[in-house]
Amino acid sequence: MVERTESESRKLLGRLRDAMAQEGAGQARLDKITNLIADSMGTEVCSIYLFRDENTLELCATEGLKPEAVHETRLKLGEGLVGRVARTGKIVNAADAPSAPGFRFMPETGEEIYSSFLGVPIQRLGEKLGVLVVQSKTAREFSSDEVYALEVVAMVLAEMTELGVFVGEGAALSARHQQPVMLRGTTGQEGTAVGHVWLHEPRVVVTNPIAEDPHRESVRLTEAVDQLRGSVDEMLTNVGGDKDQLDVLEAYRMFANSKGWMRRMEEDIARGLSAEAAVEKEQSTARARLSQVNDSYLRERLHDLDDLSNRLLRILTGQGNHTGAEMPADPVLIARNIGPAELLDYGRSLRGIVLEEGSVGSHAAIVARALAIPLVIHAGRITNEALNGDHIMVDGDQGIVHLRPDDTVVAAFRDKIAMQAEAQERYASIRDLPATTLCGKTIDLHMNAGLMADLPSLESSGAEGVGLFRTELQFLVRNQMPKRSELSALYTRVLDAARGKRVVFRTLDIGSDKVLPYMKPNDEPNPALGWRAIRVGLDKPGVLRMQLQALIRAANGRPLAIMFPFIAQYEEYAAAKAELDKALTREKKLGHPIPEKVEVGTMLETPSLAFATRSFYDEVEFLSIGGNDLKQFFFAADRENERVRRRYDTLNVSFLSFLERIVERCETSNTALSFCGEDAGRPIEALCLTAIGLRSLSMRPASIGPVKSLLRRTDLDALRKVIADARHRGMQSVREPVMEFLRSQG
Ligand code: PEP
Ligand code: MG
Repeated sequence: MVERTESESRKLLGRLRDAMAQEGAGQARLDKITNLIADSMGTEVCSIYLFRDENTLELCATEGLKPEAVHETRLKLGEGLVGRVARTGKIVNAADAPSAPGFRFMPETGEEIYSSFLGVPIQRLGEKLGVLVVQSKTAREFSSDEVYALEVVAMVLAEMTELGVFVGEGAALSARHQQPVMLRGTTGQEGTAVGHVWLHEPRVVVTNPIAEDPHRESVRLTEAVDQLRGSVDEMLTNVGGDKDQLDVLEAYRMFANSKGWMRRMEEDIARGLSAEAAVEKEQSTARARLSQVNDSYLRERLHDLDDLSNRLLRILTGQGNHTGAEMPADPVLIARNIGPAELLDYGRSLRGIVLEEGSVGSHAAIVARALAIPLVIHAGRITNEALNGDHIMVDGDQGIVHLRPDDTVVAAFRDKIAMQAEAQERYASIRDLPATTLCGKTIDLHMNAGLMADLPSLESSGAEGVGLFRTELQFLVRNQMPKRSELSALYTRVLDAARGKRVVFRTLDIGSDKVLPYMKPNDEPNPALGWRAIRVGLDKPGVLRMQLQALIRAANGRPLAIMFPFIAQYEEYAAAKAELDKALTREKKLGHPIPEKVEVGTMLETPSLAFATRSFYDEVEFLSIGGNDLKQFFFAADRENERVRRRYDTLNVSFLSFLERIVERCETSNTALSFCGEDAGRPIEALCLTAIGLRSLSMRPASIGPVKSLLRRTDLDALRKVIADARHRGMQSVREPVMEFLRSQG
């Protein structure tokens, strides 16, 4: 019985292939296909619904329903049984369709006389393309064999849709990958970029979904899987002791040897699919599952399976990691996700980056920020939409991506870029001037850094120094813990490049969102409030000691500024400082030169430190407000959580009052104070911070120009009055009155 249905499946696919080989317009081909499927499945009706836009399905061809309904009948996603298949990606098999939940009667199609309904999604690698439906008068459920056969056909249809088979004169479909597409994501790094798509992982194109000789396909699959297993084993022997990589590779090995996976692909082949189409069918199923799974462990494993399927497809199609295409001169990198080390390999050659996943605090985002490359994350289905070489415009400020933009978008974008270029020129002209306000106060503007790639900005931005050097970035972009000698060489290069300008090195700030790839992640219920930064440094002091030694050696007698992250109470500061003192004594004993001056300070990132004892304020030499963390704790709003992270305004009166209190305390105790969170680089926020008394800000290099430019045109005394007045009036945020004030000043 199974064999009989297999050979019928194969026969149907063979007929489909022959139909495709004939000349004909897209619509004619679709019509022919519905006719073939209905005939071979023994049903009165076969219909193909394809997505017109993201939310609308259109009846594109039918055998059995009224022909005048073609291109007229449309359904919203989720509407009716067809819409349900499209929305859930799951089949609907109903003996009595009109009484099935969600049924919607469409009189124009004449479908009321058909009782049984089977709908399967047409999808390719998790991308929804449409729905394939068969219906018949007899009330019966379709057998699992019939369901399977229809799924195989849907898979072939998906491949054909992808290949543009249905495009042409009188086309049922507009050509895919040719239309302008706008995708809305989230800002990862501000800035605009225009260029051409460079896919981090080019799509594998399967041109032969249907095969004639199942035996041959089965041999091809077996050989490819053998090759794959061999390469996984080889990777396993080469990986060394890296636990995480081992875990991933073990998962690969498990899948590569999985009997279920092989069996399903063999079944697909027996029904007429080529080896590559069989791999892709299984990959599609896994991707569809991926979008429905919340468990992070399972998601990881499904990702592993996806990677493995990609490798297998490349072996089968002979399409290597890079398909021979040449990287465009103005590449905009498109990827589902990317690791920081891979991103660093591309370096500054990239104009922009668009990721389908990622998060604001991800390592890739940190690197993109350090390289000042505009980045949009969560950009929907970009890896499915974009093709190598497509024209693309990235608006990092708004988190918007225009793929294959039309002329009006191009013109509007050009205007925006021209205005930005003009502004850049203005900033360059004030680069060597101080940030002195109209009321005569001078604000020190420093830059944040963390990678060697940042250092040229010290010169070009006009920064007075590095107010925050995030040392963890060097740890994050590696696959193993750096050695002391490597760190020392690196810090030496940083200090050399700074040419005497002050660099504040913050000791390792890991944990929370920053997880080292080679450290066992802690399964903590609340990582942002967990074992992170100085808490790790003090509990496991080996790394902190190594880092302090490396810094002292790199200074080689030059002045050194060290800052401890995430200090929440005096004792932590005292303990960290004691480690530094010990390191200094030890280095001196070993005969290394000691810095001529060592400044020791801490980040102020927890509200507790704002209320620390006077003795702490007297003792610590400088404080730097880490507004990113401080704000998340002040408002109890996770900085990584898209839902809440923008909910509270930095210019909220309570938060400003809180910051003002810290300023006053530092004035009283004569403690140097700066602000190094992202808000320091936002011009309006920067103005307000200086209006309440901050005199030193540290920010992304690209922000120094805009902030300085605005400061030089502002009277802080007048602004202070505006803020006081807003407070007096009981306003929640001072943003509006401040904007109004700035507008009135032109
Ligand atoms: C901060 O918390 O504001 C800060 C500058 O540190 P990070 O963003 O590295 O946590
Ligand atoms: Mg912080």
